[in-house]
Amino acid sequence: MTECLLCNVELLTRPSWKSLLALDDEMVVCLECFSRFKRSNQKFEDTLLKNITALYEYNDAMRDYLHQYKFLQDIALANVFKNELRDVVKSKVNIIPIPMHPKRKVARTFSHVEELLKCARISYSDVLEKKDDETMGEKSKKERLAISPLFNLKSNAIIEYEPYLIIDDIYTTGTTLRHAAALLIEAGAKEVEAVTLIRARLND
Ligand SMILES: [Zn+2]
Repeated sequence: MTECLLCNVELLTRPSWKSLLALDDEMVVCLECFSRFKRSNQKFEDTLLKNITALYEYNDAMRDYLHQYKFLQDIALANVFKNELRDVVKSKVNIIPIPMHPKRKVARTFSHVEELLKCARISYSDVLEKKDDETMGEKSKKERLAISPLFNLKSNAIIEYEPYLIIDDIYTTGTTLRHAAALLIEAGAKEVEAVTLIRARLND
């Protein structure tokens, strides 16, 4: 018996032709829970990035999901959006997740962005490492922009003159993505795009 990871109702698994052909993975949440997430597929531009795609809007369901996934460390929830993420990313190359600080990774037990990619069976290279240890949420935008840079390239990283795609969980001000894009472009990347699971507005 499989249960919805969010409300524990029993899932009536009905194999689809896609799952039989291994094109799609089985849902891990019920349709009612899944329908509470608001798909946006919003695309927008940014100075350093060719484009940014956000798959979902931030709403109550997403707030509860993030709390259970990131703070309560319910790693199974990395599976909830795997099909949606794979659909958007499958044709792309040079996938790079935004890393968390090593100390924070120990505290949180897993890297939530990398885990999203692993569950979606998307291969990636973790060439970035986080420099700053402080909690971003405690700083103003101005303060955050003043800290530079947020990331280092790992010493063994090789960046080619090719397109790169950065993956992060939430887009709020774009500062994190711009820092990562600047670093990749400086290291020789042709262009940088980004996909985030969620777009959050500053007043959310
Ligand atoms: Zn449910």
